[in-house]
Amino acid sequence: MAQERWRKRVTMISSNATLWDRVRTLVDFSAWKGHLDPQDGFEDPTPMEALRATCEAQGWGLVDHRQTPRRGRGRARGTRKIEDIYALWYHQTGCLISSEGLSIPAHSLILRRTDTRPTTIVLLHPIRAYLYGSHHANPFAITIEVEACAAGVSGDPRTLWTPKGKTVAEHWAEASEDQIMATRIVGQYYIDEVAAQDGAVTHSGNHRNSHKSRVSDPGQEIATRCTRYHGLLPGPVIGSGRPDPTVWGGDEGIPYSWRVRGW
Ligand SMILES: [Zn+2]
Repeated sequence: MAQERWRKRVTMISSNATLWDRVRTLVDFSAWKGHLDPQDGFEDPTPMEALRATCEAQGWGLVDHRQTPRRGRGRARGTRKIEDIYALWYHQTGCLISSEGLSIPAHSLILRRTDTRPTTIVLLHPIRAYLYGSHHANPFAITIEVEACAAGVSGDPRTLWTPKGKTVAEHWAEASEDQIMATRIVGQYYIDEVAAQDGAVTHSGNHRNSHKSRVSDPGQEIATRCTRYHGLLPGPVIGSGRPDPTVWGGDEGIPYSWRVRGW
């Protein structure tokens, strides 16, 4: 009887495919002697590879204009040191864009889907390019433009900047869900890419924070869903800029404007 039980157990063990692997672990010291490759044969993707893969998976366009020479408003004015760059700076374009945005002074542009193109991320300049895009934040900010005509306070037409000759209804175009998602992805790309270059992104602000004329830039939707998304420190508020209103996630009791409190 005992012999029968023993034979059963031997059959069970020898049919177990992991047995020899378990025996091997008893004489394999590589893991604690530092002989194992830390990535076990796999390399982390670079931030650019990760961005490209995400765009492919989502069906978004990715256009790289970082090496495209240009003149005029959209050109770079100089360079910055990576250690001086510490903030993401979010904008809305305030108009719809039919081109790839070469005349826009931004590091990147997130275009909305149209009949002729998918939601598209355009990389316009290298991170170290000094641009006239974010007023007082130019020396330290990475300028991210989202193609939108968005309300400063969600749903409040009084807070939509409208050009002469257009009605609110004609002009209003909040960022799409895909643009919000793509903008978050771009933010993460910059955080990772600056880190890869031995710098650090610690803050995340809005154009409103760096010039008094940009009260509604980028608007509540982008400010709450993109600017605040990565859990970075807000701002800073600089030059003639204003702090985020309470409805953008700012401190308690800060109104949107003298006319509209926002709550
Ligand atoms: Zn702006």
